[in-house]
Amino acid sequence: MFYVYPVAQASNRILKRDKHSAPAILALICLLKKYARNKLIEKVGVDMQAIKLTDALIEERKNSITVKGSVEAKQKQSLTCDAESVAGCVSQRACVYCGARVVLNPVTDAIHLVHGPIGCSSYTWDIRGSLSSAADLYRNSFCTDLKEHDIIFGGEKKLAFAIDELVRKYDSRLVFVYSTCVVGVIGDDLEAVCKAAAEKHNIEVIPVQSSGFIGNKSAGYRAACDSLLRLIEPNSGDVKDIVKIPDSINYLGDFNLAGEVWIIKSYLEQIGVKVNVAFTGDSHCDALKKAPAAALNIVQCAGSMRYLAQKMEEIYDIPCLNISFIGLQDTADSLRKIADWFSNEAMLKRAEKLIEKKTAEVKPLLRNYRKKLEGKKAAIFVGGGFKAVSLIKQFKEIGIDVVMVGTQTGSQEEYETINDLADEGTVILDDANPSELEKFMTEKGADLLVGGVKERPLAYKLGMAFIDHNHDRKHPLSGFVGAVNFAKEVYSTVCSPVWKYAKD
Ligand code: SF4
Repeated sequence: MFYVYPVAQASNRILKRDKHSAPAILALICLLKKYARNKLIEKVGVDMQAIKLTDALIEERKNSITVKGSVEAKQKQSLTCDAESVAGCVSQRACVYCGARVVLNPVTDAIHLVHGPIGCSSYTWDIRGSLSSAADLYRNSFCTDLKEHDIIFGGEKKLAFAIDELVRKYDSRLVFVYSTCVVGVIGDDLEAVCKAAAEKHNIEVIPVQSSGFIGNKSAGYRAACDSLLRLIEPNSGDVKDIVKIPDSINYLGDFNLAGEVWIIKSYLEQIGVKVNVAFTGDSHCDALKKAPAAALNIVQCAGSMRYLAQKMEEIYDIPCLNISFIGLQDTADSLRKIADWFSNEAMLKRAEKLIEKKTAEVKPLLRNYRKKLEGKKAAIFVGGGFKAVSLIKQFKEIGIDVVMVGTQTGSQEEYETINDLADEGTVILDDANPSELEKFMTEKGADLLVGGVKERPLAYKLGMAFIDHNHDRKHPLSGFVGAVNFAKEVYSTVCSPVWKYAKD
């Protein structure tokens, strides 16, 4: 600003006085501006364009957005994250109840009963698919459909009747009962109703304390994890007496949206690791109950499952490792990390052999896509920080520059890693709203947005390519095969001729 502003002021005055010399003066001004801009870049290490990005922001949002390498970023201590959304800013975050359903809905043999108005229950398997190898009860969404009468006189009786009816009709040993906003307001005693129903039917009936207003999506993850902890708690005996299964792991934070759990399970089995249970993709009541017997927890989606892993370490003495099976590099690194943890030479050798074989299969394919994609620009806005970190690396693998990275629920530590990986000038933002996403993607010239179901319409309205990394996928994006699927999808959407017509 300091260098450019006086030059612009001077130019306006000179042009008004001497119209004939205008072309020469304009050329001189351009040179001066270029000089000033280069001087500034030299001084603060970042392009002016990047600094202008944060000019038009709402004051309360400024600390949640930064531009790597900018003057503002150098002045800021750290990015504000993991905080309540600013009122009126139209956050992209889902509510507490939705967060809880993300985690619990993939439990395939459970009855998922929403205690609330019918609108809340529209968040179902249909908009957040996950695959099952056996039961399909989880594809139904049940609701007590609370009406005005229930809000005035209470909904506990209706809830008890609903549980009775469902247990009679469906052969299930597990019911999750989700609390919604209005239930939190009228104060129905979910604990008492669930306890009575569990005793009556001799099955697990577990409340999920997920009233929408008690926090943000992260609170929903914790509510779901608390319910899982209740489910896996042994009915009798001392937890110290639980016999651990050698070379076994629980795989936390994979919801098997398009069969990812099966791919990772196959890799782990090939290197000699037994997968005790996956939380919660393609899981069922009996398998989840065996979770305390695992030797190690590995955590893919840290945003939703870090809390569960910490609690299991505290209660069952199961250590945990953060891993990621998104992208070639992270998949290979994670397999090595797991084999390393078990300190098993044979396992390490098998891991290296698998990595070598799979890398040789997919590298030539990725090279081809890289040639076609080199120089394109991507924007990332996803739920958790772990995914954003892996996606930055994955875009680098296929030659794409990441110009904007944001998450709904990233932690301070994850934002530090994102900052380390990002190039100078990259916009980094937490808990964004559609207008911020539009502004930054447009100004940075992104060709592609990778996000979830709520970001899709925004990208299409802007005439921009989009990749769903969450809800609507039909092919897996994890592991070696996922790295190729991802590159293929990026190529087919970014290089589609349709965007040319959409922008015209
Ligand atoms: S915010 Fe409340 S009312 Fe809205 S979907 Fe979530 S639980 Fe239901």
